[in-house]
Amino acid sequence: MLIEVTKDSIIQDPDFLATKCLKMAPADIERETELMKTAFEWVSDPKNGALGLASTQVGSKWRWFVMKNPNHKRAWLNKEAGGPVVIVINPKYRGNGTKRTCEESCFSIPGKAFKIHRTSSLIATFLKLNPETGETKQITTTYTGSSAQIFQHEFDHLRGLTIADRGE
Ligand SMILES: [Zn+2]
Repeated sequence: MLIEVTKDSIIQDPDFLATKCLKMAPADIERETELMKTAFEWVSDPKNGALGLASTQVGSKWRWFVMKNPNHKRAWLNKEAGGPVVIVINPKYRGNGTKRTCEESCFSIPGKAFKIHRTSSLIATFLKLNPETGETKQITTTYTGSSAQIFQHEFDHLRGLTIADRGE
């Protein structure tokens, strides 16, 4: 298992990135905790310039990702889902905003940018992993703006979709 994340170790193989990830049971979460924490630390380190990282990008086939949460200081957001970086397990969401066109890039597709349609707001449910305690908590929250955009980008990875598949 990959235990160090670096820019060069991020997977670019389109076949692996097309993996449809599997829902995690508690035992799966326990086995993946170290890798999720490593991904959390990598996304949290500003010198890496990352907004998120999905399991398939580090060689895993389970339904989790790490996202930056730029809007976490908005008081009306559910505080439980807050913090500047969030580990998201078994996510689902429902869009409730307007469609907008975003320009995105991805560490798995270096040097390219794609235009892609995203909802401006969504309601997400997932298990949030606390990287300090290793505990999980069920969360339902609204994400808007950049947070919603990052959530959708990482969610697509778990369905085996990249911006090269969905964007133009
Ligand atoms: Zn990506």
